[in-house]
Parts: sequence; structure tokens; C-alpha cells
Amino acid sequence: MALPVRHRPDLAAATSPVPARAAEPRPHVRWPAPVRRSRSDAERTQWTHPTVISSEVLESEDPKWQGKAPPVTSLGDLVDTLLAGASPAPIVTAGDPVLRRPALPYDGQLSAAQLDGLLALMRTTMNEAPGVGLAAPQIGVPLRIAVIEDPAPGPAEVLRARRRVPQPFRVLVNPRYEAAGPGVAAFFEGCLSVPGWQAVTARLERVRLRGQDETGRELDEVAEGWPARIVQHETDHLDGMLYLDRAEMRSLSANAHVLDRWSQPTPEAAAEALGFSLPTSVQGRAGSTSTTP
Ligand SMILES: [Zn+2]
Repeated sequence: MALPVRHRPDLAAATSPVPARAAEPRPHVRWPAPVRRSRSDAERTQWTHPTVISSEVLESEDPKWQGKAPPVTSLGDLVDTLLAGASPAPIVTAGDPVLRRPALPYDGQLSAAQLDGLLALMRTTMNEAPGVGLAAPQIGVPLRIAVIEDPAPGPAEVLRARRRVPQPFRVLVNPRYEAAGPGVAAFFEGCLSVPGWQAVTARLERVRLRGQDETGRELDEVAEGWPARIVQHETDHLDGMLYLDRAEMRSLSANAHVLDRWSQPTPEAAAEALGFSLPTSVQGRAGSTSTTP
């Protein structure tokens, strides 16, 4: 999810009420080791993601590729190829099918080193963009994994209205959410995979988040306000949805207009000037999540 500010915040200066998990020693990853087994052609097709690979290798002078994507036959190979490439990773943009397919549940398809490397690459890519969330499909990896980190920069009045508080770096594995109350909040929202644009999007104000963290520990918690918005945005990515599927399209605004005209704490002025009603319910089909309050 894109960070709705013009400049990259000073992440080092960001304060957080919760110690950043990254500073703690990593517990032993209990995901089972990946099993090497032959794949059917269908699985190979599903797991091959030429778009991310090709953008990086088609210009390569390495004769072994000869203008073709390398043979990616497993998620592990895909992650290895990404880890050998650029950091931050190229972010996949709207129009790539990987953003429109439900991602595969993570059940230990990667080695511990591959998972660690992928999470580090996702964090760097999110921070450099900058953004406050990134789902694995956004760098071409069709797994149900997302990262979140929000230093919550900006005027206090805006942060208060949007219920936006700092979020330490964290990992969501196989996340899913459901409504934990009837409230809905509508604010401008953006996405790193739809660069340059933002739109008013209604989100549940309070959700129950379940899934695992990167160690396999079960998560079951309630998220509220802006953190709940990030959870919904990133989980939707893993269901093949973009925020535009839920947005009020008459609010669609280039970043420059959001910054210059629609940076008020709430989007009432934008609604009046652009001719839309503030949405009072979450739009768009439900994926594997339950989004009906
Ligand atoms: Zn996004």
C-alpha cells in the first residue's frame, strides 16, 4: 500500500509504541522444509512467472538466457532468482496477471534461508518505494505472504482523523480477515502497483485478523483504524484484488491533486468538488475473506 505523503519519511526517526520485531532474535522457523518433487506441467505453468523475470533478464548479455526467461520451475527457484537480482525488487504493476490470481497458501514451500531472504527483500522494496505494506505477488511471488511497516508520518490532525498510528515491521502469512464491527471508514488510498493515483476507498474500521507470522505462530487479533486498512489492502492483494475494485471511481485523483487539493484529514471536500458520495459500505466482491459487516 502506498504511503500518502510526498517525501520518504525518516524511518529511523519513526517512533513506535511496540518494539520492532526485527530487532528481536529470530526464533527457529518451524515451517517444514520444502519437499523437492516433480511438478506437473500445470503446476509449472502456475508457478512460472515470466513477467518479473523477463524485465530483468531480457536485457542481459548472458548468452544462457538468449532473450528468454530462465526456466523457473518452482517457487524456490523463483525466489532464488529474485534474490540474485536487484534490491529493491521491481514492483509489478496493474495489468500483470499475478496481481489478479489468488496467491497460493504458504505451507513451507521455501527453505528458511529463502523465506528470510524474501522477507528482507520485501521489506527493502516496501521501504524504498516508499509504502506501508507489500504483498508477495507485488514482486511476482504468488504466495500468501505480506509485510507491513508504517512510521505514520504527517500532521497530527490527519493521523487522528484516520486513526493512523505507527506500526512496527511485521509479517503476515496466510492472512485472512473478517468484520469485527459495523463501522466503515472512507479515505484516499493508493497502491504501489497502481503508481501515481489514489482513490477514496471504504474499508472496515475494525477487523479480526487471523493467519500466521513468519515463524508459523498463529495470529488472531483485532486491528482498527489505519492498521486495519493496511491489513485489508494487503490481504485483498493475496485474493487477486486491487483497491480500485473497492474504490469510489469518481474520486480517482492523480497524486499531485491529492497532495495539493485533497490532503484534508477527511475526503468531504473532494466528494463535493468531484461529485461523489462518501461510500458507507465496503464495495467489491468478497474474495476468500468475509467483508460483510
Ligand atoms: Zn497495493
